Amino acid sequence: MKTLFIEQTVNKIGQEVELFGWVDSKRDHKKIVFIDLRDRSGIVQVVGDECFKKLSAEDVVYIKGVVKKRPEKLANPKLKTGAIEIKTKELKVVSKAKPLPIPVQDDGYVIDEEIRLKYRYLDLRRPRMFRNLLLKSQVVTFIRNYLVDKNFLEIETPILTKTTPEGARDFLVPSRLQRGKFYALPQSPQQYKQLLMVAGIERYFQIARCFRDEDPRRDRAYGEFTQLDLEMSFVEQNDILTLTEDLFTKLVKKIFPEKHFTQSPWPRLSHQFVMKKYGTDKPDLRKNKKDRDELAFSWTIDFPLFNKQTEEDYFYGSGSAKFAPSHHMFTAPHPDDIPLLDKDPLKVRGLQHDLVLNGFEVGGGSIRIHQPEIQKKVFELIGFSEEQKKQFSHMLEAFTYGVPPHGGIAPGIDRFLMAALAEPSVREVIAFPASSGGKISVMNAPSEANEEQLKELGIKVQTH
Ligand code: ASP
Repeated sequence: MKTLFIEQTVNKIGQEVELFGWVDSKRDHKKIVFIDLRDRSGIVQVVGDECFKKLSAEDVVYIKGVVKKRPEKLANPKLKTGAIEIKTKELKVVSKAKPLPIPVQDDGYVIDEEIRLKYRYLDLRRPRMFRNLLLKSQVVTFIRNYLVDKNFLEIETPILTKTTPEGARDFLVPSRLQRGKFYALPQSPQQYKQLLMVAGIERYFQIARCFRDEDPRRDRAYGEFTQLDLEMSFVEQNDILTLTEDLFTKLVKKIFPEKHFTQSPWPRLSHQFVMKKYGTDKPDLRKNKKDRDELAFSWTIDFPLFNKQTEEDYFYGSGSAKFAPSHHMFTAPHPDDIPLLDKDPLKVRGLQHDLVLNGFEVGGGSIRIHQPEIQKKVFELIGFSEEQKKQFSHMLEAFTYGVPPHGGIAPGIDRFLMAALAEPSVREVIAFPASSGGKISVMNAPSEANEEQLKELGIKVQTH
Protein backbone atom coordinates (compact mmCIF):
# COMPACT_ATOMS: atom_id res chain seq x y z
CA MET A 1 0.00 0.00 0.00
CA LYS A 2 1.17 3.52 -0.80
CA THR A 3 2.47 5.61 2.07
CA LEU A 4 2.54 9.40 2.07
CA PHE A 5 5.40 11.28 0.38
CA ILE A 6 6.30 13.03 3.60
CA GLU A 7 6.91 9.68 5.30
CA GLN A 8 8.53 8.14 2.24
CA THR A 9 11.07 10.78 1.37
CA VAL A 10 12.04 13.15 4.19
CA ASN A 11 15.12 11.85 6.06
CA LYS A 12 15.48 8.99 3.58
CA ILE A 13 18.54 10.27 1.71
CA GLY A 14 20.18 7.57 -0.39
CA GLN A 15 17.18 5.25 -0.33
CA GLU A 16 15.29 3.99 -3.34
CA VAL A 17 11.60 4.88 -3.26
CA GLU A 18 8.50 4.19 -5.35
CA LEU A 19 6.12 7.14 -5.55
CA PHE A 20 2.59 7.41 -6.90
CA GLY A 21 1.02 10.84 -7.31
CA TRP A 22 -0.24 13.69 -9.48
CA VAL A 23 1.95 15.98 -11.55
CA ASP A 24 1.40 19.33 -9.87
CA SER A 25 3.66 21.28 -12.23
CA LYS A 26 6.51 20.78 -14.69
CA ARG A 27 9.63 22.85 -15.34
CA ASP A 28 11.38 22.03 -18.58
CA HIS A 29 15.11 22.83 -18.64
CA LYS A 30 15.72 21.01 -21.96
CA LYS A 31 17.89 18.04 -20.89
CA ILE A 32 16.64 18.06 -17.35
CA VAL A 33 12.95 18.26 -16.57
CA PHE A 34 11.61 18.80 -13.07
CA ILE A 35 8.18 17.93 -11.86
CA ASP A 36 6.50 18.71 -8.59
CA LEU A 37 4.79 15.48 -7.70
CA ARG A 38 1.82 15.83 -5.37
CA ASP A 39 -0.01 13.58 -3.00
CA ARG A 40 -2.26 14.54 -0.11
CA SER A 41 0.71 15.08 2.16
CA GLY A 42 2.33 17.67 -0.08
CA ILE A 43 4.78 18.08 -2.90
CA VAL A 44 8.10 16.46 -3.68
CA GLN A 45 10.47 17.60 -6.43
CA VAL A 46 11.36 14.91 -8.96
CA VAL A 47 14.22 15.24 -11.43
CA GLY A 48 13.93 13.46 -14.77
CA ASP A 49 15.15 13.59 -18.32
CA GLU A 50 13.53 14.04 -21.70
CA CYS A 51 10.98 11.32 -21.10
CA PHE A 52 9.34 13.72 -18.62
CA LYS A 53 8.48 16.05 -21.50
CA LYS A 54 5.33 14.10 -22.31
CA LEU A 55 3.89 14.72 -18.85
CA SER A 56 1.15 17.24 -18.27
CA ALA A 57 -0.32 18.71 -15.12
CA GLU A 58 -2.56 16.35 -13.14
CA ASP A 59 -1.34 13.16 -14.86
CA VAL A 60 -1.07 10.31 -12.38
CA VAL A 61 2.39 8.80 -12.50
CA TYR A 62 4.61 6.16 -10.93
CA ILE A 63 8.21 7.11 -10.22
CA LYS A 64 10.97 4.84 -9.04
CA GLY A 65 13.94 6.87 -7.90
CA VAL A 66 16.53 7.67 -5.29
CA VAL A 67 16.17 10.32 -2.59
CA LYS A 68 18.99 12.88 -2.92
CA LYS A 69 19.91 15.80 -0.74
CA ARG A 70 19.47 19.06 -2.65
CA PRO A 71 22.48 21.36 -2.75
CA GLU A 72 22.12 23.80 0.15
CA LYS A 73 21.44 26.74 -2.21
CA LEU A 74 18.59 24.96 -4.00
CA ALA A 75 16.73 23.83 -0.88
CA ASN A 76 13.16 25.18 -0.61
CA PRO A 77 12.34 25.96 3.02
CA LYS A 78 8.65 26.47 2.12
CA LEU A 79 8.21 22.75 1.39
CA LYS A 80 8.35 20.03 4.01
CA THR A 81 10.31 18.01 1.46
CA GLY A 82 12.34 21.07 0.42
CA ALA A 83 15.71 19.67 1.46
CA ILE A 84 15.53 16.67 -0.88
CA GLU A 85 14.58 15.68 -4.40
CA ILE A 86 14.05 12.40 -6.23
CA LYS A 87 16.40 11.33 -9.01
CA THR A 88 14.29 9.24 -11.35
CA LYS A 89 15.22 5.74 -12.49
CA GLU A 90 11.85 4.77 -13.90
CA LEU A 91 8.70 6.65 -14.90
CA LYS A 92 5.30 5.17 -15.76
CA VAL A 93 2.26 7.19 -16.69
CA VAL A 94 -0.59 5.56 -14.79
CA SER A 95 -3.30 7.79 -16.24
CA LYS A 96 -3.32 10.91 -18.39
CA ALA A 97 -5.22 14.05 -17.43
CA LYS A 98 -6.97 16.44 -19.78
CA PRO A 99 -6.48 20.13 -18.95
CA LEU A 100 -8.61 20.79 -15.87
CA PRO A 101 -11.66 23.07 -16.10
CA ILE A 102 -10.55 24.84 -12.89
CA PRO A 103 -7.13 25.42 -11.37
CA VAL A 104 -6.55 23.44 -8.18
CA GLN A 105 -3.26 24.87 -6.95
CA ASP A 106 -4.62 28.12 -5.46
CA ASP A 107 -7.17 28.63 -2.68
CA GLY A 108 -10.05 28.70 -5.19
CA TYR A 109 -12.08 31.49 -3.57
CA VAL A 110 -12.41 33.55 -6.73
CA ILE A 111 -13.63 30.70 -8.96
CA ASP A 112 -17.37 30.63 -9.64
CA GLU A 113 -18.85 28.37 -6.96
CA GLU A 114 -21.23 26.58 -9.33
CA ILE A 115 -18.23 25.41 -11.37
CA ARG A 116 -16.30 24.42 -8.28
CA LEU A 117 -19.26 22.32 -7.16
CA LYS A 118 -19.74 20.71 -10.58
CA TYR A 119 -16.11 19.59 -10.53
CA ARG A 120 -15.97 19.08 -6.80
CA TYR A 121 -13.74 16.00 -7.14
CA LEU A 122 -11.14 18.34 -8.67
CA ASP A 123 -11.90 21.22 -6.34
CA LEU A 124 -11.16 18.94 -3.38
CA ARG A 125 -7.62 18.45 -4.73
CA ARG A 126 -6.69 21.94 -3.60
CA PRO A 127 -4.71 21.84 -0.36
CA ARG A 128 -7.13 24.15 1.45
CA MET A 129 -10.07 21.85 0.82
CA PHE A 130 -8.06 18.78 1.78
CA ARG A 131 -7.05 20.52 5.00
CA ASN A 132 -10.71 21.31 5.78
CA LEU A 133 -11.78 17.70 5.27
CA LEU A 134 -8.84 16.47 7.33
CA LEU A 135 -9.68 18.84 10.18
CA LYS A 136 -13.32 17.79 10.07
CA SER A 137 -12.30 14.16 10.35
CA GLN A 138 -10.01 15.01 13.28
CA VAL A 139 -12.78 17.01 14.99
CA VAL A 140 -15.24 14.14 14.71
CA THR A 141 -12.66 11.63 15.95
CA PHE A 142 -11.82 13.86 18.90
CA ILE A 143 -15.50 14.23 19.81
CA ARG A 144 -16.07 10.46 19.61
CA ASN A 145 -13.11 9.67 21.84
CA TYR A 146 -13.99 12.38 24.34
CA LEU A 147 -17.61 11.29 24.73
CA VAL A 148 -16.94 7.54 24.73
CA ASP A 149 -14.44 8.21 27.52
CA LYS A 150 -17.26 9.85 29.44
CA ASN A 151 -19.49 6.79 29.08
CA PHE A 152 -21.59 8.03 26.19
CA LEU A 153 -23.00 5.50 23.71
CA GLU A 154 -22.99 6.30 20.02
CA ILE A 155 -26.36 5.21 18.67
CA GLU A 156 -27.83 5.52 15.18
CA THR A 157 -31.42 6.60 14.72
CA PRO A 158 -33.57 6.19 11.59
CA ILE A 159 -33.22 8.35 8.53
CA LEU A 160 -36.53 7.19 7.09
CA THR A 161 -38.79 8.45 9.80
CA LYS A 162 -41.65 10.72 10.70
CA THR A 163 -41.50 14.45 10.71
CA THR A 164 -39.70 16.10 13.64
CA PRO A 165 -41.27 19.53 13.71
CA GLU A 166 -38.28 21.70 14.47
CA GLY A 167 -39.21 24.76 12.60
CA ALA A 168 -38.34 23.86 9.02
CA ARG A 169 -39.91 22.21 6.01
CA ASP A 170 -39.53 18.42 5.81
CA PHE A 171 -38.15 16.31 3.02
CA LEU A 172 -40.69 13.63 2.19
CA VAL A 173 -39.95 10.15 0.83
CA PRO A 174 -42.85 8.18 -0.63
CA SER A 175 -43.44 4.71 0.75
CA ARG A 176 -43.83 1.89 -1.81
CA LEU A 177 -45.20 -0.65 0.63
CA GLN A 178 -47.72 1.73 2.11
CA ARG A 179 -48.91 3.66 -0.89
CA GLY A 180 -49.96 7.20 -0.26
CA LYS A 181 -47.86 7.42 2.88
CA PHE A 182 -44.59 9.26 3.26
CA TYR A 183 -41.55 9.08 5.43
CA ALA A 184 -39.92 12.32 6.43
CA LEU A 185 -36.17 12.69 6.71
CA PRO A 186 -35.31 13.80 10.24
CA GLN A 187 -34.76 17.50 10.87
CA SER A 188 -32.81 16.13 13.83
CA PRO A 189 -32.98 12.95 15.93
CA GLN A 190 -34.77 14.95 18.64
CA GLN A 191 -37.61 12.56 19.48
CA TYR A 192 -35.46 9.46 19.12
CA LYS A 193 -32.83 10.77 21.49
CA GLN A 194 -35.50 11.56 24.06
CA LEU A 195 -36.94 8.06 23.65
CA LEU A 196 -33.42 6.70 24.22
CA MET A 197 -33.47 8.47 27.57
CA VAL A 198 -36.76 6.73 28.40
CA ALA A 199 -34.96 3.51 27.40
CA GLY A 200 -32.39 4.14 30.14
CA ILE A 201 -29.36 4.89 27.91
CA GLU A 202 -28.54 7.94 30.07
CA ARG A 203 -25.78 9.26 27.79
CA TYR A 204 -26.26 9.23 24.04
CA PHE A 205 -24.52 10.88 21.15
CA GLN A 206 -24.52 10.64 17.40
CA ILE A 207 -22.72 12.41 14.60
CA ALA A 208 -26.12 12.97 13.06
CA ARG A 209 -27.15 14.01 9.59
CA CYS A 210 -30.10 16.39 9.72
CA PHE A 211 -32.32 17.30 6.79
CA ARG A 212 -34.15 20.58 6.39
CA ASP A 213 -35.72 21.90 3.23
CA GLU A 214 -34.73 25.51 3.83
CA ASP A 215 -33.15 28.04 1.54
CA PRO A 216 -29.36 27.98 1.74
CA ARG A 217 -27.49 30.74 3.51
CA ARG A 218 -23.85 31.32 4.14
CA ASP A 219 -24.05 29.57 7.51
CA ARG A 220 -26.52 26.92 6.38
CA ALA A 221 -26.09 24.40 3.60
CA TYR A 222 -29.15 23.48 1.61
CA GLY A 223 -30.73 20.17 2.49
CA GLU A 224 -28.50 18.46 4.97
CA PHE A 225 -25.90 19.14 7.59
CA THR A 226 -24.08 17.35 10.37
CA GLN A 227 -24.61 17.85 14.07
CA LEU A 228 -23.06 16.41 17.15
CA ASP A 229 -26.34 15.37 18.70
CA LEU A 230 -26.19 14.52 22.39
CA GLU A 231 -28.57 13.87 25.23
CA MET A 232 -28.15 13.06 28.92
CA SER A 233 -30.45 11.97 31.72
CA PHE A 234 -30.51 13.31 35.29
CA VAL A 235 -28.79 16.56 34.37
CA GLU A 236 -29.32 20.23 34.89
CA GLN A 237 -28.65 22.89 32.30
CA ASN A 238 -25.32 23.70 33.93
CA ASP A 239 -24.12 20.11 33.35
CA ILE A 240 -24.78 20.38 29.62
CA LEU A 241 -23.05 23.74 29.33
CA THR A 242 -20.05 22.60 31.36
CA LEU A 243 -19.61 19.39 29.38
CA THR A 244 -19.91 21.17 26.01
CA GLU A 245 -17.49 23.88 27.07
CA ASP A 246 -14.94 21.35 28.29
CA LEU A 247 -15.28 19.30 25.09
CA PHE A 248 -14.80 22.24 22.72
CA THR A 249 -12.05 23.83 24.82
CA LYS A 250 -10.01 20.64 24.73
CA LEU A 251 -10.84 20.07 21.08
CA VAL A 252 -9.63 23.53 20.08
CA LYS A 253 -6.43 23.18 22.13
CA LYS A 254 -5.65 19.86 20.45
CA ILE A 255 -6.74 20.44 16.86
CA PHE A 256 -6.42 24.22 16.51
CA PRO A 257 -3.49 25.05 18.80
CA GLU A 258 -2.94 28.36 17.00
CA LYS A 259 -6.37 29.65 18.08
CA HIS A 260 -7.07 31.52 21.28
CA PHE A 261 -10.26 32.18 23.22
CA THR A 262 -11.48 35.74 23.80
CA GLN A 263 -12.77 34.70 27.21
CA SER A 264 -12.64 31.59 29.32
CA PRO A 265 -14.84 30.40 30.94
CA TRP A 266 -17.29 31.39 28.25
CA PRO A 267 -19.76 34.10 29.27
CA ARG A 268 -23.33 32.99 29.90
CA LEU A 269 -25.61 35.82 28.88
CA SER A 270 -29.35 36.12 29.17
CA HIS A 271 -31.42 36.56 26.04
CA GLN A 272 -32.82 39.79 27.40
CA PHE A 273 -29.32 41.17 28.03
CA VAL A 274 -27.88 40.33 24.60
CA MET A 275 -30.93 41.59 22.76
CA LYS A 276 -30.72 44.86 24.60
CA LYS A 277 -26.97 45.28 24.38
CA TYR A 278 -26.21 43.80 20.93
CA GLY A 279 -29.61 43.59 19.23
CA THR A 280 -29.04 39.90 18.44
CA ASP A 281 -29.13 36.61 20.31
CA LYS A 282 -25.78 35.62 18.75
CA PRO A 283 -23.40 38.46 19.52
CA ASP A 284 -19.91 38.49 18.05
CA LEU A 285 -17.81 39.07 21.16
CA ARG A 286 -14.38 39.01 19.49
CA LYS A 287 -12.03 41.79 20.59
CA ASN A 288 -10.47 41.96 17.15
CA LYS A 289 -12.70 40.84 14.32
CA LYS A 290 -9.80 40.80 11.87
CA ASP A 291 -7.91 38.18 13.89
CA ARG A 292 -8.57 34.81 12.22
CA ASP A 293 -7.35 32.96 15.30
CA GLU A 294 -9.66 34.52 17.86
CA LEU A 295 -12.58 32.40 19.06
CA ALA A 296 -15.28 34.14 21.06
CA PHE A 297 -17.57 31.48 22.44
CA SER A 298 -20.54 32.47 24.57
CA TRP A 299 -23.80 31.02 25.79
CA THR A 300 -27.15 32.65 25.34
CA ILE A 301 -29.64 31.43 27.94
CA ASP A 302 -32.99 32.38 29.46
CA PHE A 303 -34.75 32.60 26.12
CA PRO A 304 -38.49 33.11 26.22
CA LEU A 305 -40.14 29.70 25.78
CA PHE A 306 -42.49 31.11 23.14
CA ASN A 307 -42.51 33.76 20.48
CA LYS A 308 -45.60 35.20 18.89
CA GLN A 309 -46.57 32.99 15.99
CA THR A 310 -45.90 34.35 12.52
CA GLU A 311 -46.70 33.13 9.02
CA GLU A 312 -43.42 31.23 9.00
CA ASP A 313 -44.76 29.00 11.74
CA TYR A 314 -47.37 27.51 9.44
CA PHE A 315 -46.53 23.94 10.44
CA TYR A 316 -47.62 24.51 14.03
CA GLY A 317 -51.16 25.00 15.06
CA SER A 318 -53.70 26.50 12.79
CA GLY A 319 -56.37 29.06 13.48
CA SER A 320 -56.38 30.33 16.99
CA ALA A 321 -52.76 29.52 17.84
CA LYS A 322 -50.76 32.46 19.07
CA PHE A 323 -47.49 30.98 20.24
CA ALA A 324 -44.58 29.29 18.54
CA PRO A 325 -41.76 27.61 20.45
CA SER A 326 -38.59 29.69 20.48
CA HIS A 327 -36.45 26.50 20.30
CA HIS A 328 -38.72 23.52 19.84
CA MET A 329 -41.79 22.13 21.51
CA PHE A 330 -39.89 19.76 23.80
CA THR A 331 -38.01 22.51 25.64
CA ALA A 332 -38.90 22.73 29.32
CA PRO A 333 -40.22 25.92 30.86
CA HIS A 334 -38.18 27.40 33.69
CA PRO A 335 -39.63 25.75 36.84
CA ASP A 336 -40.29 29.15 38.45
CA ASP A 337 -42.38 30.20 35.45
CA ILE A 338 -44.72 27.22 35.17
CA PRO A 339 -47.67 29.17 36.68
CA LEU A 340 -47.22 31.73 33.88
CA LEU A 341 -48.03 29.09 31.24
CA ASP A 342 -51.69 29.75 31.95
CA LYS A 343 -51.45 33.44 32.71
CA ASP A 344 -48.89 34.95 30.37
CA PRO A 345 -47.13 32.43 28.13
CA LEU A 346 -44.89 35.00 26.45
CA LYS A 347 -43.30 35.73 29.84
CA VAL A 348 -42.27 32.10 30.45
CA ARG A 349 -38.53 31.51 30.20
CA GLY A 350 -37.37 28.30 28.59
CA LEU A 351 -34.44 26.16 29.68
CA GLN A 352 -32.88 26.67 26.27
CA HIS A 353 -29.20 27.27 25.61
CA ASP A 354 -27.58 28.49 22.42
CA LEU A 355 -23.88 28.12 21.79
CA VAL A 356 -22.50 31.15 19.97
CA LEU A 357 -19.13 31.46 18.24
CA ASN A 358 -17.91 34.65 16.57
CA GLY A 359 -21.45 35.78 15.86
CA PHE A 360 -22.79 32.44 14.61
CA GLU A 361 -25.19 30.17 16.43
CA VAL A 362 -23.16 26.96 16.42
CA GLY A 363 -25.42 24.90 18.65
CA GLY A 364 -28.68 24.81 20.48
CA GLY A 365 -30.30 22.61 23.03
CA SER A 366 -32.39 22.53 26.16
CA ILE A 367 -33.61 20.73 29.21
CA ARG A 368 -36.68 18.85 27.99
CA ILE A 369 -40.17 18.57 29.26
CA HIS A 370 -40.59 15.17 30.88
CA GLN A 371 -44.03 15.62 32.43
CA PRO A 372 -46.82 14.55 30.03
CA GLU A 373 -49.21 17.20 31.37
CA ILE A 374 -46.77 20.04 30.69
CA GLN A 375 -46.03 18.65 27.25
CA LYS A 376 -49.77 18.55 26.53
CA LYS A 377 -50.11 22.15 27.69
CA VAL A 378 -47.33 23.28 25.35
CA PHE A 379 -49.03 21.46 22.47
CA GLU A 380 -52.22 23.36 23.33
CA LEU A 381 -50.45 26.69 23.46
CA ILE A 382 -48.89 26.24 20.06
CA GLY A 383 -52.31 25.38 18.75
CA PHE A 384 -51.95 21.73 17.77
CA SER A 385 -55.10 20.18 16.40
CA GLU A 386 -56.21 16.78 17.75
CA GLU A 387 -54.70 15.29 14.60
CA GLN A 388 -51.33 16.96 15.21
CA LYS A 389 -51.34 15.94 18.87
CA LYS A 390 -51.85 12.34 17.79
CA GLN A 391 -48.59 12.55 15.84
CA PHE A 392 -46.80 12.83 19.16
CA SER A 393 -48.82 10.31 21.12
CA HIS A 394 -45.78 7.99 21.23
CA MET A 395 -43.87 10.65 23.20
CA LEU A 396 -46.71 11.22 25.63
CA GLU A 397 -47.20 7.49 26.09
CA ALA A 398 -43.46 6.88 26.55
CA PHE A 399 -43.44 9.50 29.29
CA THR A 400 -45.99 7.47 31.27
CA TYR A 401 -43.60 4.53 31.74
CA GLY A 402 -40.96 6.13 33.91
CA VAL A 403 -39.07 8.93 32.24
CA PRO A 404 -35.86 10.46 33.62
CA PRO A 405 -35.42 14.22 33.51
CA HIS A 406 -33.16 14.86 30.55
CA GLY A 407 -31.63 17.43 28.27
CA GLY A 408 -29.05 17.90 25.58
CA ILE A 409 -27.57 19.97 22.84
CA ALA A 410 -26.64 19.69 19.19
CA PRO A 411 -23.61 21.67 18.04
CA GLY A 412 -23.36 21.91 14.26
CA ILE A 413 -20.09 20.43 13.07
CA ASP A 414 -20.06 22.26 9.73
CA ARG A 415 -20.96 25.56 11.29
CA PHE A 416 -18.39 25.21 14.04
CA LEU A 417 -15.70 24.47 11.46
CA MET A 418 -16.76 27.33 9.24
CA ALA A 419 -16.54 29.78 12.13
CA ALA A 420 -13.33 28.29 13.56
CA LEU A 421 -11.58 28.31 10.19
CA ALA A 422 -13.02 31.71 9.23
CA GLU A 423 -14.31 30.20 5.99
CA PRO A 424 -16.84 32.32 4.10
CA SER A 425 -19.49 29.58 3.93
CA VAL A 426 -20.33 26.14 5.34
CA ARG A 427 -19.95 24.69 1.86
CA GLU A 428 -16.19 25.11 2.26
CA VAL A 429 -16.17 22.40 4.92
CA ILE A 430 -18.56 19.93 3.27
CA ALA A 431 -17.26 17.49 0.66
CA PHE A 432 -20.28 17.53 -1.67
CA PRO A 433 -22.65 20.33 -0.68
CA ALA A 434 -25.70 21.28 -2.69
CA SER A 435 -25.49 24.43 -4.77
CA SER A 436 -27.87 27.33 -4.37
CA GLY A 437 -30.60 25.71 -6.45
CA GLY A 438 -30.53 22.66 -4.19
CA LYS A 439 -28.61 20.73 -6.82
CA ILE A 440 -25.79 18.30 -6.09
CA SER A 441 -23.95 19.32 -9.22
CA VAL A 442 -21.43 16.47 -9.42
CA MET A 443 -24.23 13.90 -9.74
CA ASN A 444 -26.80 16.26 -11.15
CA ALA A 445 -29.25 15.40 -8.38
CA PRO A 446 -32.19 15.66 -8.00
CA SER A 447 -33.24 13.86 -11.14
CA GLU A 448 -36.49 12.66 -12.62
CA ALA A 449 -37.88 9.29 -11.59
CA ASN A 450 -38.88 6.96 -14.42
CA GLU A 451 -42.46 5.91 -15.20
CA GLU A 452 -41.98 2.52 -13.60
CA GLN A 453 -40.74 3.98 -10.32
CA LEU A 454 -43.60 6.47 -10.16
CA LYS A 455 -46.16 3.80 -10.92
CA GLU A 456 -44.91 1.61 -8.09
CA LEU A 457 -45.24 4.54 -5.74
CA GLY A 458 -48.63 5.55 -7.04
CA ILE A 459 -47.38 9.04 -7.88
CA LYS A 460 -48.33 11.36 -10.71
CA VAL A 461 -46.02 14.28 -11.27
CA GLN A 462 -47.31 17.77 -11.95
CA THR A 463 -44.56 20.21 -12.75
CA HIS A 464 -46.78 23.26 -12.61
N1 ASP B 1 -32.58 19.04 18.05
C1 ASP B 1 -32.19 20.38 18.36
C2 ASP B 1 -31.72 21.11 17.11
O1 ASP B 1 -31.35 20.46 16.14
C3 ASP B 1 -31.10 20.45 19.32
C4 ASP B 1 -31.47 19.99 20.68
O2 ASP B 1 -32.42 20.49 21.25
O3 ASP B 1 -30.74 19.14 21.20
O4 ASP B 1 -31.65 22.31 17.11
